[in-house]
Amino acid sequence: SDHQLDYPVQPSDYDWSKHYPAHFPAAGTNGEASGKEVEFADIGCGYGGLLIALSPLFPSTLMLGMEIRVKVEEYVEKRIQALRSQNDSKGRDEAESYQNISVSRMNAMKFMPNFFKKGQLSKLFFLFPDPHFKKKKHKARIVTSTLLAEYAYVLRPNGILYTVTDVRDLHLWMVKHLDEHPLFERIPEEDLRDDPCVPCVMGETEEGKKVERNKGDKFLAVYRRLEKGKEL
Ligand code: SAM
Repeated sequence: SDHQLDYPVQPSDYDWSKHYPAHFPAAGTNGEASGKEVEFADIGCGYGGLLIALSPLFPSTLMLGMEIRVKVEEYVEKRIQALRSQNDSKGRDEAESYQNISVSRMNAMKFMPNFFKKGQLSKLFFLFPDPHFKKKKHKARIVTSTLLAEYAYVLRPNGILYTVTDVRDLHLWMVKHLDEHPLFERIPEEDLRDDPCVPCVMGETEEGKKVERNKGDKFLAVYRRLEKGKEL
């Protein structure tokens, strides 16, 4: 459970060099010292497909997957290590180095502000989150009014929050809560055509691929974090 995990008291206490050694050459330096900070967070990253797809598209952007299951987190860690060493032995360029992605085992519903400071993130991903179908379990959903306040805090103005699910009821739930939140505004589909992240969020995660094999629906909703609250 949570108390076995090693959470930083505040973002500046965290040693990011162990996650991104190539970006933090001197061990122990934190983000502020080297100027590098995590900008993308994949909440409930599962087996890591999104991080691996985005890594070469944004080679100098640091991305972190957050995953609560121990075995899954360990798997993603090994997967990234393997990609990094393959690249080392072939001497490829930065775009295929996978030095910009990492994973942390954590409960993202509780500790986001311990890892990220205000306005640090430019993108947040919620891909195929657990649906918690039963009414009594809805409060366990990862998008709720309370948690949206936290996500708005760590996202910078104009930062983007992506949600995808195959569960229509959960999609409607996420849209309702985001629409009702003063700091989020939905981005219309036609404005997403040039966003290179959209094909990745729709098709590159393990869950997204499973839904595709089963010919299921996929519902996308993307929101911009506003600078000032909108009128409701
Ligand atoms: N996003 C991945 C994908 O599309 O393949 C995984 C989707 S899977 C259905 C949901 C994941 O969220 C699971 O791996 C689960 O362990 C993780 N998860 C659930 N609650 C979490 C929490 N509070 N913090 C971090 N991860 C969580």
